[in-house]
Amino acid sequence: MKIKYFIPLICFLAVIVFCSLLMMPPYPLMIAQFALFLTGFSRTYFYAIKETIKNRDAVIKLKVRSPYFMPVSIFISVTAVTTFLFIPRDMDIIIQFSSCCVMALLCYTAGVIILLRDIKTESKPPLQTNKLSVNKEKTLLLINPVNPHKTGLTVNSSSRFPPLALGIIAALTPDNFHVELIDENIEQFHYKQADLVGITAFTSAVGRAYEIASHYRKRGVQVVMGGIHASMLPDEALHYVDTVVIGEAESIWPELINDFLKGKLKKKYTAEPGKLYNMPIASRDIFSSQYMFATVQTSRGCPMDCEFCSVTAFNGRKYRQRPVKDVLDELEKIPEQYIFFVDDNIIGYSKASAQRAVRLFKGMVERKLNKVWFCQASLNFGLDDEVLVWARKAGCKLVFLGLETPDPEELKVMNKKVNLRIEYKKALKNINRHKIAVLGAFINGTQAETTRSLRNKADYILQHPIDVIQTTILTPLPGTRLFRKLEQEKRLLFTEFPQDWERYDMGELTFKLDNMTRKQFMVIHKECNRRFYSRWNLVKQFFKTLINTRSMESALWAYSSNKNYRNVFLSYKA
Ligand code: SF4
Repeated sequence: MKIKYFIPLICFLAVIVFCSLLMMPPYPLMIAQFALFLTGFSRTYFYAIKETIKNRDAVIKLKVRSPYFMPVSIFISVTAVTTFLFIPRDMDIIIQFSSCCVMALLCYTAGVIILLRDIKTESKPPLQTNKLSVNKEKTLLLINPVNPHKTGLTVNSSSRFPPLALGIIAALTPDNFHVELIDENIEQFHYKQADLVGITAFTSAVGRAYEIASHYRKRGVQVVMGGIHASMLPDEALHYVDTVVIGEAESIWPELINDFLKGKLKKKYTAEPGKLYNMPIASRDIFSSQYMFATVQTSRGCPMDCEFCSVTAFNGRKYRQRPVKDVLDELEKIPEQYIFFVDDNIIGYSKASAQRAVRLFKGMVERKLNKVWFCQASLNFGLDDEVLVWARKAGCKLVFLGLETPDPEELKVMNKKVNLRIEYKKALKNINRHKIAVLGAFINGTQAETTRSLRNKADYILQHPIDVIQTTILTPLPGTRLFRKLEQEKRLLFTEFPQDWERYDMGELTFKLDNMTRKQFMVIHKECNRRFYSRWNLVKQFFKTLINTRSMESALWAYSSNKNYRNVFLSYKA
């Protein structure tokens, strides 16, 4: 920390001390109060400057400034209120004290402005998002499409994440290819020349992917599609693209590229889930520098096979883990401070996998990686104190937990066995005790849902230590047992595929419920969301997290995540 950031503070303290000695009547109590104010202010100033430097990524990329002004504003208002309650009601003193508060704010603002200017000038110009094409024989164009009508979390710049799988594909592509990425998280698609196109898509964006693919096929450019939707419905995808990769593409990509160079691309390539040893490290230079988070994966697969989830179908039932050293080496190479571990469950389901998570977190501390991160985990995360201690030390601020519903009968129907064994409240409180905030993900629209059960669930969420609230609508995604069941029972409401896939984005009810019409359901679902994401509730959630975690950083993370969900909710209303 440079001394120049503290010059405004030093000047301020000098002026105040000098003037007070000259003008203030020598009331011992008041002098003590002033001394306390000045010490408290100096400490808060120091903290805020330190935090601003620590979070320079957010300051540069997102122009987030308000959190760094918040500590000082809170401090000054609390001091002002409490002091005025106790000091004599003397006009001179009130004027003196108010001027002191105003000067304090001005001095703090000056300090932060000097610091922000420094951070701006020091920050490097944005990385080139595309590799240079000099002397490359072929161009591989990778595309990450976003449905413009269903943007979901991509409406917020801080809840967009780089498409890691495409980074891995780029890393596996031979050097004589020039690899480019069109990422609709960041920029809208515009036609670019390519020799081969690789496209991926979630179900709700698949229509957009097919539309983009058609531009290339019309011009005779071959299009390969991978990702979860194409893996679940390869025959549908083959109507719109030339080749489909089914499953995790790493193991077959070199073969596919070879076939392409020989002009012998097959229609389908099926990849079996393999071991995660020596995985290629994603070529992150294809990602935009506007992303706040870097994405990293440490494990794949899930033995649970919940009825609504396609993870087991895509990544297999076996929980596979990367060696800790590989992950640490990769983390060391990532310049971003903010990390999202995209694993569906970072700690797994066994004692051994929890111990492996502990080794990973310890390694992050030992190597002094200084990352700030969030992850997804199963509820057993909340019962393992050793995992929690090391997660916090390694920089964990927030954990995403698929809580789904507090109703054990519903959990049984979903086959969410892991949640049945654990008392929610105990696990959530324990996570908060370790200064980590909880993002509780709930599902509305289970088959037996009623208006009463929806409202009860909302009450439950608000009364429990859930810091960030996510409620999605149960959605039968292709490849899941839920989809097959509802299809057989002829309960699906929208079956004009592929155009109806955009409705399968977890924000719309896509099947018939037993006890409610679609309209009744949507009215109550929105009513619950209005309760969760009202401005007033966002502030209440902030203080709830601050009190439960005793961590300003976790509370700010939780607040900003709730704000992101609010924006998603507002985008649906529109
Ligand atoms: S919801 Fe979670 S626990 Fe269930 S199958 Fe999917 S990843 Fe596994």
